[in-house]
Amino acid sequence: MKTEVFKIGGGELFAFDGALSRAAKIIKRGGLVVFPTETVYGLGGDATNPESARKIYSAKGRPSDNPLIIHLAKPEDAENYTHTSPLYYKLAESFMPGPLTVILPAKDTVALETRAGLSTVAVRIPENPIARRLIELSGVPIAAPSANLSGSPSPTSAKHVISDMLGRVDMIIDGGDSSFGLESTIVKLEDDGTLTLLRPGKITPEELSLICNVKIADAVTEQLKEGERVLSPGMKYRHYAPHSPLALFDGTLSEMLDFIKRDGVEDIAIISYLEDGEKIKKSLPSADFYPLGGRDNLEEQAHRLFACLREADGKDYKQIYAPLPSTEGVGLALYNRLIRAAAHRIIKPEK
Ligand code: AMP
Ligand code: MG
Repeated sequence: MKTEVFKIGGGELFAFDGALSRAAKIIKRGGLVVFPTETVYGLGGDATNPESARKIYSAKGRPSDNPLIIHLAKPEDAENYTHTSPLYYKLAESFMPGPLTVILPAKDTVALETRAGLSTVAVRIPENPIARRLIELSGVPIAAPSANLSGSPSPTSAKHVISDMLGRVDMIIDGGDSSFGLESTIVKLEDDGTLTLLRPGKITPEELSLICNVKIADAVTEQLKEGERVLSPGMKYRHYAPHSPLALFDGTLSEMLDFIKRDGVEDIAIISYLEDGEKIKKSLPSADFYPLGGRDNLEEQAHRLFACLREADGKDYKQIYAPLPSTEGVGLALYNRLIRAAAHRIIKPEK
């Protein structure tokens, strides 16, 4: 398939309405368009069209039992596709448009294939103006998972999308780097008026707790046990796994460097904080260093994480190391993505 790549930037958005109308037409006639959002790039198709959903699973190589998030222009549009509740509107008031996905009981208007046969559907109202304009012009809800091949890190730039999706979709809209860089926070609304956090993101449990009681699903931080029932199908899949094995170190930088030296593996990479670069170069001159961002700058780390994993994965390392992040605030989202990329391999220093 021939993929049109269209760059939007350096001008007012309305100047690009011609291209966005073309993209909207592609969506309406059952085609696929990759578009930027504030979290990561999305691989979009018409959520009401079973054929579009099938095409999305196939373009990503994603198992069709892992449901898609539907993207809407405004919170009230959820009435057409879901059964909402007062708590949904409370969340909308604080966090929409933005990087929060809410799981609600679905109406039949959402194709069964889009929600992978479930009775619920995940809804998000993105903030990115290109995404919003595309949804408005399409006039349909846009089902969009992250626009990466299944198993590789989510794309946060057009370069990542082009490397995974060229020839697999009708159009790619290049809107620059994703501003946040990790996927949305996902919550499920429970019957008793509480929330369960299924995937951490920019909207933190601390912020959600200001609205109602929040329970964090075990699978956010823990490894699933054999045969354990999952609250979200995506939890059971290994994610973002680099080809070279990744291990997380639960200790100080000096302890990590001592461990690596003792371990004696050559051909390694270290993904760590900017401030660590000098010490790493001095102590392990043969190791490649990928700066994640400032130690205390969680937003920068979120913004850089997937690009770091892709860059390091471009080389054939015997081992990649990274520090285990804290689980405070946005740290929980970094922790969740990193432990999955590392297949839960955490090393502790010997005391
Ligand atoms: P992605 O589309 O790549 O951002 O992944 C979407 C995530 O949302 C996956 O982990 C899905 O399993 C999860 N998800 C989507 N719809 C539902 C739903 N109805 N119930 C539970 N999890 C869902
Ligand atoms: Mg994904």
